[in-house]
Amino acid sequence: MNIVKFLINKMPSYKAKAIILRTYKLGESDKIVKMYSGRDGIISAVAKGSRRIRSKFGGRLALFNLVDLEIASGKNLDIIIQAEILKSFKNISLDFYKFIFCELISEVILKTQSSGSEPSPSLFKLIYVCINEIDNLEIEDIKSLKKAACFFGAKFLKIIGYSPLLDVCCRCSIKMDDLYSFHKHKILFSIRYGGIVCGKCANNLKNKMVLTASSYRFLYDLFNNKLEDFRDIEVSSSVIKKIYKLIENYITYHTDCSIDSFKYLNKIAI
Ligand SMILES: [Zn+2]
Repeated sequence: MNIVKFLINKMPSYKAKAIILRTYKLGESDKIVKMYSGRDGIISAVAKGSRRIRSKFGGRLALFNLVDLEIASGKNLDIIIQAEILKSFKNISLDFYKFIFCELISEVILKTQSSGSEPSPSLFKLIYVCINEIDNLEIEDIKSLKKAACFFGAKFLKIIGYSPLLDVCCRCSIKMDDLYSFHKHKILFSIRYGGIVCGKCANNLKNKMVLTASSYRFLYDLFNNKLEDFRDIEVSSSVIKKIYKLIENYITYHTDCSIDSFKYLNKIAI
């Protein structure tokens, strides 16, 4: 047994089920793997020798895989001892668009959650559900990919406690009637104040968004429906485009994070 293996065996270890969100090269043959686990939150660990052709890890530590791990706790960095695939999403690496939308999910999680953040089983489940959904979509189906990204963004905001107010004015708390009706022609929304605004409060408000009844209903459904119920909702590309932008701006403003994947998707006009 070489000295490294001997030292790893002496370290305390733990088990984790995690989704791989990013990997970085380390030295000649190792990589650092960043993952999210429902019990431990963000895990960062080294996979020794994993970039060698005959590594014991093989392709198990590929991006977005759900893996069952045994990890040794180090003083500075944890070390992956064993990895088994629980689920791999084979269609993602075959479709450039699927891949960049999964990258978006990964970046939002990694930029907003740190190793010290409280672990969230709901967030873990959300990442899994959305990556699985993206994997199952038809190839290059950008409309459905954006719809899935809206779903991820809305549920992410809900889990971290930043749901917008969608039935009362977010400035004066007055109850807004008839919102879930197609009779309402325009509904005003403020990213900054976090929700819909009444006509009176909207008067002196800069940067308000105007939503049509269809856009409002889609936004409301995103925050209130499960994926199974949401999947079959018919919605136009223009509504998805509008709400995707709203969610992008909402996440960027309220988490104070600059998300490169959003910028990239804008740049390639998606
Ligand atoms: Zn108001």
